[in-house]
Amino acid sequence: TLYQAKAHGSGRWERYDPARGEQELTRHSLATAMPAALAHNEFLLHYQPLVSLADSSVRGFEALVRWDHPRLGRVSPGQFIPVAEETGNINALGQWVLEQGCLQARRWFDEFGLDDLYVSVNVAATQLRQPTFVADVLGTLDQVGLPAMCLQLELTESAVAGDTQGALVALRELAAAGVRLAIDDFGTGYSNLAHLGRLPVHQLKIDRSLLSSSRKGEVVDPARDKIIAGTISLAHSLELDVLAEGVETTPQADRLRLLQCDYAQGMLFGGPVPVSEATEVLACQTRRANSA
Ligand code: C2E
Ligand code: MG
Ligand code: MG
Ligand code: MG
Repeated sequence: TLYQAKAHGSGRWERYDPARGEQELTRHSLATAMPAALAHNEFLLHYQPLVSLADSSVRGFEALVRWDHPRLGRVSPGQFIPVAEETGNINALGQWVLEQGCLQARRWFDEFGLDDLYVSVNVAATQLRQPTFVADVLGTLDQVGLPAMCLQLELTESAVAGDTQGALVALRELAAAGVRLAIDDFGTGYSNLAHLGRLPVHQLKIDRSLLSSSRKGEVVDPARDKIIAGTISLAHSLELDVLAEGVETTPQADRLRLLQCDYAQGMLFGGPVPVSEATEVLACQTRRANSA
């Protein structure tokens, strides 16, 4: 069948693409279902360990949202986060993630007395642009009774690059309050280190795409290896610490350690897991520390 490609504004006739039609349908149904899904508790958080490369100890967890849709099953954030950003639902969802992440950090804080353990929460560009964002974050910390340093916010480069003035003021206020700030997915955007040097951020997270191209039997390809090495040393000279995302093999971890990379996240150390498993990881680590 043919349909008029109105979306492209061209008045051309194109062959109907069932795959695209289905995608549109899914996007639409995700967008309309989202507000009720929040009210019905269909979202949940998984936690992925953020480890020190020096001794493999867990320093924090990244909170990663999942959606158990009653009909579609588990939907990945790669699918619904972009839809949430387009429709504005990301503000309510992001606030929910922030609250749940802080509540969980507080539970771990109470259970294990780890005052340097932090939960890292992803923040979308639209959230950062909300005039109430800083007040919402500080209000949540206050309500939950969580020290600011137990919370990290992850922002992408594009989120802090666009409307710099507003974003910069917000970041300064958050940093001054003691909240940790990280640049997420570094290496996928403009990767402007000079710009980063002017931001009050504490950590650079190198995107896994810089690592994942490594072919079997090779640690990393030489060009990417140089980019990673340069990024780490520049970040350090700007007094940022560095975390590598998507670390899957021991040779990758060994190489990153040699390049003075501080932290890692990836399947080698553990994928995103339900809260019970993350708690078990902390319990093991605490037992080991106490018996040492
Ligand atoms: P991200 O912030 O870069 O999170 C890391 C993603 O990489 C996660 O995907 C994680 O499961 C995956 N990952 C971790 N280690 C490995 C590895 O060793 N190998 C491979 N291949 N993948 C690994 P996930 O959970 O599907 O999340 C995808 C993205 O969705 C996140 O990327 C983040 O941008 C976004 N997202 C997730 N939760 C939230 C949220 O609460 N708010 C916002 N705004 N975005 C979120
Ligand atoms: Mg992230
Ligand atoms: Mg990331
Ligand atoms: Mg990434």
